[in-house]
Amino acid sequence: MKLSVYGKGGIGKSTTSCNISVALAKRGKKVLQIGCDPKHDSTFTLTGFLIPTIIDTLQEKDYHYEDIWPEDVIYKGYGGVDCVEAGGPPAGAGCGGYVVGETVKLLKELNAFDEYDVILFDVLGDVVCGGFAAPLNYSDYCMIVTDNGFDALFAANRIAASVREKARTHPLRLAGLIGNRTSKRDLIDKYIESVPMPVLEILPLIEDIRVSRVKGKTIFEMAETDPSLLPVCQYYLNIADQVLAAPEGVVPKDAADRELFALLSDF
Ligand code: ADP
Ligand code: MG
Repeated sequence: MKLSVYGKGGIGKSTTSCNISVALAKRGKKVLQIGCDPKHDSTFTLTGFLIPTIIDTLQEKDYHYEDIWPEDVIYKGYGGVDCVEAGGPPAGAGCGGYVVGETVKLLKELNAFDEYDVILFDVLGDVVCGGFAAPLNYSDYCMIVTDNGFDALFAANRIAASVREKARTHPLRLAGLIGNRTSKRDLIDKYIESVPMPVLEILPLIEDIRVSRVKGKTIFEMAETDPSLLPVCQYYLNIADQVLAAPEGVVPKDAADRELFALLSDF
């Protein structure tokens, strides 16, 4: 199964992705997380350091794919989760979609792409240009991280529109929204009334989650020494279980940008 996690910048995609990956591994799955953000910090809380990116490695080897070994680009993270960082094109040049394409091509050459029970793409998604929509080409499900605010829901709607477009030609479904860093959900509920889709989980703002990122650990790793964090792990296990149950998901309905402005604003 292939999953893509999208959402507005800074909304908590990487934090959520790493913890979902560990949750899936705890359920006995062989998991690979692929960071597709040029920031290349997606898998940081799994490995505890910034691993070399695929693009750096390809450049170093002059794009000789045959000189690259799995251990050059696939790093073992917490809970047995394998980690890859696609990396980015040079700032202001190139295309993120090309980078994702090269990453998948290399993993296929290494016979690694079909070796996993779950591959999770952690993708930046404020603006879903064709390039950043690339992971959707390989995905069974997309999940969108959002808070209860206008900007993240506006971004979510644009991502939903990309899912709808890709679903015309790919077996892709939107698994649903993950509410993050919010205890309120009134705007989320307003949005899904207009564009029906499941809400997989709503995670409040939790100081320990913020701290976990600073410590370079997942909340699961921190819970090993602090059992009071086990209820926090439960949020991610719940998301993992829903995905593993192969939900039907949805092909999202269209909501025009202007319609959404009217829906989510008070003026
Ligand atoms: P993204 O990958 O979407 O850019 P990150 O996962 O890097 O976002 O998260 C941005 C910041 O928000 C990090 O410092 C992270 O620790 C924090 N964060 C994410 N989710 C939560 C949460 N539920 N509670 C508190 N802090 C969170
Ligand atoms: Mg990130």
